[in-house]
Amino acid sequence: MHENDLLMDISILYRSTQKFYDAQLKEYHLSYAQLPVLIMIYENEGIPLNEIVVRGDYDKGTISKTVKNLEALNYIRVDSSLRDKRAKALFTTEKTKQIMSQIYSIRRRWWKHLTSHMDNESFQTFVENTHDMAEVSKKISSRIENGAYYMEWKKMSLSAYEGKISSILYTGGCNFRCPMCTKKKYVFLKDEIDELKNEEIREFFRNKQNMIDAICIEGGEPFMHIHFLSSLREMKKLNYKIKIHTNGSYYEQLKTAIDQGLVDMISMSIHNSIKEYDTSIGMKGYNIDNIKKSVAYLLEGHIPYEFEIVLVKEYHTIQNVEQMANWLRGARRIVLSNYNENEDSIAKNLHPVSEDDFRIMKNIFSAQVEEVKVCYK
Ligand code: SF4
Repeated sequence: MHENDLLMDISILYRSTQKFYDAQLKEYHLSYAQLPVLIMIYENEGIPLNEIVVRGDYDKGTISKTVKNLEALNYIRVDSSLRDKRAKALFTTEKTKQIMSQIYSIRRRWWKHLTSHMDNESFQTFVENTHDMAEVSKKISSRIENGAYYMEWKKMSLSAYEGKISSILYTGGCNFRCPMCTKKKYVFLKDEIDELKNEEIREFFRNKQNMIDAICIEGGEPFMHIHFLSSLREMKKLNYKIKIHTNGSYYEQLKTAIDQGLVDMISMSIHNSIKEYDTSIGMKGYNIDNIKKSVAYLLEGHIPYEFEIVLVKEYHTIQNVEQMANWLRGARRIVLSNYNENEDSIAKNLHPVSEDDFRIMKNIFSAQVEEVKVCYK
């Protein structure tokens, strides 16, 4: 199946359309941005400015400027409205009427180029779908979303939160590109993947307090969602225990969640020693100050936490591991596992460390922290 990147396709379509129109309209001293407005006035002589704003979902300041420019070019005139003398109405001039057939012809030619591969029926479907998408996008772009974006949901798990029956939600999107990441689908989000409906999630948790003790939230990176804390507040009101898995790079949000009692357990990934961190997260030169602050805050022991470490032969030497263990000295728990590539891994051809090295590395951590729990994935 062709992997669509709808956003990129729309961007290419928009820029190519603009280039074509600007070139064709040059001799009339008009631009692509002015054209829909001029056509709207021509087809609705006497239309008030406000109506153009509403119909085209324009910004009022931008459209006032466009109208002024069209007036200065003598393509339109501004007059009193016949219906309301105080309101301004827009009319095209003789100059516009002289060139409109050429303008329509430019528009027709562009659509012909674009749709030459479609039969009549596909073309009609395309026109209707495009119109419907524009209408929906007008509504959505001005709506204030109030939740995080959850992409997947495992309704019940006996292992995600130790000693509890939990439900796991996965957020989409991550600010890192760790080569050893085995959850690519939550990092590079495809257009065709739908978000879960927040209302459906709320409804489920409102009714499952007798069955489920905890909600575990993983990513991607949950804290990168601007409405994540308000989503946590809602869940917490329902009295669930909450565990969050994070990469620790959103220190302020992490600290706020802990300080406000919105989370009961944190699991933070540690990808390498401080010195090697940036390469291990696929972000050469990345400033890891926030990660260091998150580690330091968790080590203070405000709530239960664990550091999750996946050992990868290409990234972890005995020396790195010694530095990591020193950094995490005194930690309550490290959850240690060996790399296991899957079909959703970001990088291919990475390897687990040898069994001997794994044992040695485990012992290095054990000497510095309270508990090392080995996890076989
Ligand atoms: S391993 Fe975690 S932090 Fe790294 S890219 Fe994957 S989801 Fe993001």
